[in-house]
Amino acid sequence: MNIAILGAAGRMGQNLLRCAGKLNGCSIVAAVERPDHSAIGARVKEITGIHSEAVPEKLCFTDYWPEEAEAVIDFTFHTSVVENLENAMANGQAYVLGTTGLTDDEKSAVHAAAAELPIVWAPNMSLGVNLLLELVRRSAAILGPDYDAEIVEMHHRLKKDAPSGTALGLAEALAEGRGVKLQEVACYGREGITGERPRGEIGIHALRGGSVVGDHTVMFVADEERIEITHKANSRDAFATGALRAALWLDGRKPGLYTMRHVLGFETV
Ligand code: NAD
Repeated sequence: MNIAILGAAGRMGQNLLRCAGKLNGCSIVAAVERPDHSAIGARVKEITGIHSEAVPEKLCFTDYWPEEAEAVIDFTFHTSVVENLENAMANGQAYVLGTTGLTDDEKSAVHAAAAELPIVWAPNMSLGVNLLLELVRRSAAILGPDYDAEIVEMHHRLKKDAPSGTALGLAEALAEGRGVKLQEVACYGREGITGERPRGEIGIHALRGGSVVGDHTVMFVADEERIEITHKANSRDAFATGALRAALWLDGRKPGLYTMRHVLGFETV
């Protein structure tokens, strides 16, 4: 499959370029960056030191839309996503959206684009995290609101949004498992005289520091016992490999909004 990476010189972009050779069937045809990025015009392999057959020797970073791609993988910044979707619609390209921190309007644009394009949208593309989501959904359904639920995430100091998209996804999975609306029970951090913890509250807390790739722990706490389910990403390869798998999975799909649950077979299409 001919794949273009949007945000190719970024942290995730470079990981995607590096991991493409590990999966059969991935061929990188474009490495797209912002027009003012210093990498524009430079050869991808020279800048990144990547040795992968999936990345052509002469491929350079470019700042124009990759019309030749069958699928685009977007790990850019949330303000770029709407325009990127419009370009993909104009060219009928499958879309993998990994960028997080989208506003409500930007999220609406993703839903609208899914009427025309097959899109995989996941705040965390790793296999392990998507298994964690499933475990959390099922645990919440079984344990119910008598087990206080708290989510703690930690990421590197450069991360721009909080809480992480994954922590929000876990909170959604928890609320779904309990059959409640997240916005009615969510508590984002605590400070001051907060009063007693209401039954059924879902606490969400963000820690930042160092170069932590991404840790997430979900706790179910009762008087007599505590269950903690933790996922730790060792490297961004976990997300990159998942995103590339998602792109391959989109080959020949009908328009629609898909998640990693579909890609991994937890949910049928
Ligand atoms: P980064 O800042 O290192 O990289 C982003 C890159 O996108 C930069 O190089 C920037 O120049 C480029 N960019 C911005 N606008 C662009 C545009 N319009 N066209 C082309 N390139 C553009 O950030 P990062 O750590 O690589 O993360 C990128 C995004 O992916 C963030 O939103 C992050 O939270 C998210 N992320 C998601 C997952 C997941 O599994 N879904 C995993 C890690 C990171």
